[in-house]
Amino acid sequence: MKGNRCLTLEQLKELKEILEQKKREVLEDIKRGLEEQLNAEREVGDIVDMSTDEILRTFEMRIRDREAKYLKKVEKALQKIEEGTYGICENCGECIGYERLKLRPVAELCIKCKLEQENYERKFGEEE
Ligand SMILES: [Zn+2]
Repeated sequence: MKGNRCLTLEQLKELKEILEQKKREVLEDIKRGLEEQLNAEREVGDIVDMSTDEILRTFEMRIRDREAKYLKKVEKALQKIEEGTYGICENCGECIGYERLKLRPVAELCIKCKLEQENYERKFGEEE
């Protein structure tokens, strides 16, 4: 974990805990959903001990899009914390801000860029 010009190590540590909590929650949801599907198909598999990667690889097609996307964002944010690039806007390079990250720890854009993006999407359609 590396501090950077936007966040102190203390702040990073706190945000990392929030992200890890989110990751556990979304993984629980995904596993519960998958177990229901597997039980329904009578292929009882033990997915409790699988890693996030294995789950995504094996079940990507079955995991609801929104959950898979969120999980990937959480993983990416955790990786950025390790690399020391977390909390920096991907668009303009400004600090995203600790308060905003506490509310939305997977944020990749500062509030200014996010609002611009939303404006653009409203005008020209969805992102991606
Ligand atoms: Zn920005």
